[in-house]
Amino acid sequence: MQVQTKYLSPLAVGLAPYVPGEQPTDRRYIKLNTNESPYPPAPGVLAAIQRQVPGLALYPDPDARALCRSLAALHGLAADQVYAGNGSDEVLAFAFAAFFAGKTLLAPDLTYSFYPIFAKFYGVDYRQIPVAADFSIDPQGLCAGHAVILANPNAPTSLALPLANIRHLARHCHDPGRVLLVDEAYGPFGGESAIPLIVDFDNLLVVRTFSKAHGLAGLRLGYALGQPALIDGLRRIRDCVNSYPVDSLAQAAAQAAAEDTDYLADTVRKVLATRTRFAGALAALGFTVLPSATNFVFARHPAHSGEALQAALRRRGVLVRRFPGTRTEDWLRISIGSDADMDEVLAMLNALIRP
Ligand code: PMP
Repeated sequence: MQVQTKYLSPLAVGLAPYVPGEQPTDRRYIKLNTNESPYPPAPGVLAAIQRQVPGLALYPDPDARALCRSLAALHGLAADQVYAGNGSDEVLAFAFAAFFAGKTLLAPDLTYSFYPIFAKFYGVDYRQIPVAADFSIDPQGLCAGHAVILANPNAPTSLALPLANIRHLARHCHDPGRVLLVDEAYGPFGGESAIPLIVDFDNLLVVRTFSKAHGLAGLRLGYALGQPALIDGLRRIRDCVNSYPVDSLAQAAAQAAAEDTDYLADTVRKVLATRTRFAGALAALGFTVLPSATNFVFARHPAHSGEALQAALRRRGVLVRRFPGTRTEDWLRISIGSDADMDEVLAMLNALIRP
């Protein structure tokens, strides 16, 4: 579509906005394109929301203190080391404004595709460090004297970087005051969390979300963990944009979801069991499947283009994600859905690949 620039500011004209995975409503789809959970949120979420309804005439707590206290206790931190925002995308956007605007920021060149868009929006000198041919991240390449952002486990590759590498990066970034942001959107599904490093590194910010493991993508709740100077930096930006980014229903719902650790563990266990089974079945069909530490797999077939497979699945009502560029165009990123959904997908792939 042609962009109408007549009314736009110079800032808006120059932007190339992020295109999220589609959420179509024209028919029933097996939606495996945005890494949502196939399971509903914890059972206590509904009652927690209902309890907030009589108080909706009032503005919410701008600092979401009850939620932050819960998250702090769960992660072994203090409440002033937690910041809650409207989805982790918003937390990331505020972090770019607070810590990276006007500076140089290094990132792997294959990672969450929202980072370069935030960078452009906030005037960040964003430098992309190539990942290896096997898509692994070389942490040494990110040790070049600047702030660093990375998703761990990474998207869309599903690969995790060991904690020793994250510690090395945090140490390298430490002086003089460069922030290392580790986006752990997929942390509950594998890899090693950087949260235990926060006590030692005041330059480390870890960002997490309720959109994946907690089954609350529709609620929009993300959070950041770090020492108080970084948390205050996020609040500084927030209070120049929107003092109440997390509504009171979302605060209560997220707290209920966070506190039901048994339900979370059970959901994650189910997703991991399905992932193991699905990845094994893909490999048996001849796919190359990267070792996933997330709730999705990244896979390619040597005899079928990614474009053809994606289109064939779509015609059969299955949405999966593919990323442009010669390195990735033949790879499919397939979210882990319910066992029944994945069985349907496997039957389709079987028919496509062994007709
Ligand atoms: N980080 C990564 C690596 C992601 O894949 C996503 C989901 N697209 C997000 C952050 C944003 O998640 P949300 O805004 O739903 O918390």
